[in-house]
Amino acid sequence: MYKIAVLPGDGIGKEIVDSALKVLYKVSEKYKLDMSFEEAYFGGAGIDKYGKPFPDETWEIVQRSDAILLGSVGGPKWDKVERTLRPETGLLEIRKRLGLYCNVRPVKYFPVLADMVAWKPEYLEGVDLIILRELTGGAYFGKKGREGDEAFDTISYSKEEIKRIVVEAFEMAMKRKKLIHSIDKANVLETSRLWREVVEEVAFNYPEVKVEHLYVDNASIQLIINPKQFDVIVTENMFGDILSDEAASIAGSLGMLPSASLGGKINLYEPAHGSAPDIAGQDKANPIATILSAAMMLRSSFNEDDIATKIEQAVENVLAKGYATGDIAGKDSIKVGTEEFTKLVCEEI
Ligand code: NAD
Repeated sequence: MYKIAVLPGDGIGKEIVDSALKVLYKVSEKYKLDMSFEEAYFGGAGIDKYGKPFPDETWEIVQRSDAILLGSVGGPKWDKVERTLRPETGLLEIRKRLGLYCNVRPVKYFPVLADMVAWKPEYLEGVDLIILRELTGGAYFGKKGREGDEAFDTISYSKEEIKRIVVEAFEMAMKRKKLIHSIDKANVLETSRLWREVVEEVAFNYPEVKVEHLYVDNASIQLIINPKQFDVIVTENMFGDILSDEAASIAGSLGMLPSASLGGKINLYEPAHGSAPDIAGQDKANPIATILSAAMMLRSSFNEDDIATKIEQAVENVLAKGYATGDIAGKDSIKVGTEEFTKLVCEEI
């Protein structure tokens, strides 16, 4: 029995998680997978129900699960609450408590969405890269505060924190094109100089893997002008956060990017985007990122590689038939809502 904790969160979270659940029900029925789902309040929904973004009741449910499917959190309703009680604090806390230090974000170009990307398709044809973002260190977790008119956030990394994600990157590179781009800002940041040293140290054990170091400012332009050069990218928390959103433009929309946060006994799967309050509750959200996150869950947490591939293929087939939600609909697309797109994916499966 695969036990899945379901945390829809806020904004479009409920709609996109519903879509992923429909797809999971479909494959469980078709391929006789034994899955159980337990839903819990998280983010703004947790604050509204229990007064905190990661309520104890939710932690209980998470602890008795094998994997977590998360929607998205946050929204203007909670923008003014104190920092420790913000919906996003729940995210940082769940990652830290479960030891999810390795965020994996695959980015792929879908030729059928050529209309939707800002560049000429020939720049993107064949782009299929993975960003590994360190998730429990750096500026988001360092000491922060205010002193009078000054504010500070501290970036700090230990050698061990860097090493464990860098090793993941090399292991992944060995299964792919044996190429790593490590992104840092070693010309100005001490943490980046340590990062680079550790990458060099780990590289010694993987002589077949070619390693390139790029400064983050250069990496951000290279991702736009020549994304085909990348295969596995590894970087620290904040750089990874920004670069992976930038990379969404390769896929046509933030709504296309799934993610897996790994490193613990219980791993977490969620779309790379936020709660999109501007389109929440309107049947406009693109459910693909969340559906593909559920596929990543089947692959990484439950070793159901074939079924994960079936889901990915079903999504591609629906896109290839011309169906698209508003964010990815080009001039020849058949524009559909979240529910209709989900139904088509289920039928395709
Ligand atoms: P966002 O990702 O929610 O939205 C950015 C833009 O992309 C919006 O125009 C939105 O409509 C669009 N978009 C995002 N996902 C989409 C989808 N699936 N389908 C179609 N369009 C989609 O980022 P934001 O506006 O900066 O943040 C909104 C809220 O989400 C904030 O409270 C922020 O803190 C939170 N947030 C949460 C997460 C998370 O839960 N992991 C991540 C980022 C932001």
